[in-house]
Formats: sequence, structure tokens, C-alpha cells
Amino acid sequence: MSQGLLTEQILKLLPLGPSTSRKNVAVRLKPKGEQAMRQGHPWIFEDSIERISHSGAPGDLAVVFDGKGSFMGAGLFDPGSLVRVKVLSRGRGTPVDGDFLKAKAAEAIAARAGRIPPETDAYRVANGDSDGFPGLVADLYADILVLKVYSPAWIPWLGLCAKAFAEGLPQARRLALRLSRELQRLLEAEGSALADGLVLPEGQDGLVTFRENGLLFEADAQRGQKTGFFLDQRDNRAEVGSLSSGRRALNLFSYSGGFSLYAARGGAKQVVSVDFSKPAIEAACRNFSLNMAIPSVAACRHEGVAGDAFEVLASLASEGRRFELVVVDPPSFAKSAAEVPGALRSYGRLCKSALRVLAPGGTLVFASCSSRVDADAFIGAVCAAASETGRPLREFKRTFHAPDHPARFKESSYLKCLYATA
Ligand code: SAH
Repeated sequence: MSQGLLTEQILKLLPLGPSTSRKNVAVRLKPKGEQAMRQGHPWIFEDSIERISHSGAPGDLAVVFDGKGSFMGAGLFDPGSLVRVKVLSRGRGTPVDGDFLKAKAAEAIAARAGRIPPETDAYRVANGDSDGFPGLVADLYADILVLKVYSPAWIPWLGLCAKAFAEGLPQARRLALRLSRELQRLLEAEGSALADGLVLPEGQDGLVTFRENGLLFEADAQRGQKTGFFLDQRDNRAEVGSLSSGRRALNLFSYSGGFSLYAARGGAKQVVSVDFSKPAIEAACRNFSLNMAIPSVAACRHEGVAGDAFEVLASLASEGRRFELVVVDPPSFAKSAAEVPGALRSYGRLCKSALRVLAPGGTLVFASCSSRVDADAFIGAVCAAASETGRPLREFKRTFHAPDHPARFKESSYLKCLYATA
């Protein structure tokens, strides 16, 4: 299949900018908003706005002025969000249009050149705000480009955006358009044809087999979690691979077995993958099958357990099972500031349970993707809990975002991972 058909359908089926009858929304900022704008922050909050010219629709172009009426930049208007304007450009001479998006996409693509490991054809192409696309991410899995949209402000721009990324990625032959749950609900209520997302060219699906550091994985870019795979953990998975030789490994919150495969290839004798999603465990088993040509993967005994990680940990402990390597990569525990204390308690609880199955001198790899919980608080909670059990952790490494997942703003940073022995 050539890319021509994809481009043709993008142009035919997706919106190519707000209708020409729409008027730009003029937005005058309060000093707080001016400051955010000067600091390069991509968000203008509703309470940083002095006044707007009229009540625009999502995705209308917002033209931003300081308190004295001087032009500051432009962005997408988002009337239903506290982040009322998603800033796209600053200063003069940069109209937001198809060419502008094309240049932005090309910039994001170029920033990844030479930074993706060999034998890897899946990576994040644009990481939302941090790549100049506030409220939108772009991932590539072999031949399929996935756009995941978090704000209605992008809807009128989707065709131009998809075209911009596809043109910069000649390997893209398919497009999966995905919406955040919240956006999906909104579009459903409006009766939009895009509410369920879609895969183009029409008739194609989102199933894809891709390579990451030489391992094969399958993903469903249309229906899988996130955009089909947790691309953000690639470097941590590689690190786990190097810690696995001759060990028994337990992968908690395994999803489709990413860490498990790396552990197996790295020489783990045995790997147990635990996730409460049965389809995820089935995918993990299929991912093992895909890699049987690698002798160490074929030699590794893999066990997939569909169940709650806390419960499975308790039963493994009571059965006397022990592992020299335990990976813990739970979902976000804090969706709001109010949930932070509870999240820290859960991290502590999880650490204590994990230590019950960690063989003496074993390695614990513990990740957190709660953006509300900073690295020090997370690692503090995990270490304090370990000390309470009489097995203090000795940290030997701490990692953050991978190069294809830049986090240029405090709010966009979420991933941290602790490596320790106990
Ligand atoms: N480590 C994975 C990504 C993990 S994402 C990778 O590298 O690909 C978090 C996973 O935790 C999801 O797959 C979700 O299904 C699972 N999950 C959430 N709550 C759980 C629970 N209580 N017990 C087990 N799995 C859970």
C-alpha cells in the first residue's frame, strides 16, 4: 500500500481547519497570563484572561494580546476547558495553518532522528505540549500513525495535523485516530461522526506488529491501552533486560508483557506476568510466541496470571514463591491533588507486598506514572515503607522521561523509576 491512499482519505474524511466563516477569538491577558506566555508555557488558563472578543467554538483560532493590546501569539480556543487557550505560536509572522502544522510536525520528527534505538520502529513522534502540540500525541508503530486527541480544540484541525505527520513519516500507511475518554463522550453527545475514532484507509484495522530493541510485539493501535503500547517505558525495559540474567522475574502490572520479554531475552530463567486485564495477559503470551526464535526467550518459562496485583502478590508470598527481580509499574494512582496522600500510601503498601516475594539481595524496579506525585515524594514513600519492614532499599539508579517523551513543563512530567536492591 502506498501513502497516497492514506493522504487521499485524510483529505476527504477529516476536517481541514475551522470553516472560513469562523472569526478568530481575540484574547486579552491578565499579568499572570502574560507571564506564563513569556515563560513559554503552552497553557493559558481561564483565570489568566482579562477578556475575550466573543464566545468562540472549540478549535477557533485564538489571537492573544497582552494587557496593553500588543500581539503575543496564537493558539487554539477551548471554551470548555480551564486551559482556555492552547498556545501554538509566539510572536509575529507565524500564522497557524497547514504549513505551520507541517513545520511543527517536521520539527518533532527531526528531534527524534538518531535518538531512537536500533531495531526499533515504534516510538512517540510528538509528546503533546512538550513538542508544541498541547492536547495531542502522535505515536508511530511500524506502518501505523496514531493520533490521540485530548482536546476538542484539535478536532477542526485533525486533517491538517494528520497530513502534516504523515508527510513527514513516509513509512506511515495507516492512521488510527483516537480520542480521550472525555473527548469521546463530548463528541458522542454532539453526534459527531468522529466520536468512535477511526482507522484509515477505510476497511483497515489497528493491528500491528512492531519491533522494539529487536523484540517483536503486537499491539492494537485502535483499541489497546494508551495508543496500543506503553512506549514511554522502552528504556526502562531495556535496563531490566540487563538486570535479568539467571534470575526469576516477576512483572507486576505487566500489560502485554513488555518488561517480561526483555527479562526473558536478558536470560531470566522464569518470568511471571501479572495484570488484571485478561486480554493483556493473552497478548503477553502471544508476544512470547512471536519471539521464540531468540534462544533465551524460548528457554525462559513464562507464566501469565490475570488477577489483581495486590491479591496475586499475597498468594505468591504465601506459596513461598521468591524472585530475584521484581518490576512494579502500576497505573497512575493520583488523578488529582487530593488523591496524592492515598497514592503515596498505595505505593508504600505495594512496596511492602513486593518485598515479601523479593529474594534477599534481589532487585526492585518500581515506576510511577502519577504526574501529581513528584519523584522525591514517590521514592520517599517507597523507601520509608521498605525501611518499616526492616529491609531498607539501596537505590542504585533513578530514571525519568525517555528522549522521545520529553517533558518540558512541570505539569507534563509524570514518569520516574526507582532501581534498588534489598
Ligand atoms: N508495564 C507495562 C505497562 C503497565 S500499565 C508495559 O511496560 O507495557 C498498567 C497496567 O496495570 C495496565 O495494563 C492495567 O491493566 C494494569 N492494572 C491496573 N490495576 C491493576 C491491578 N490492581 N492489578 C493488576 N493489574 C492492574
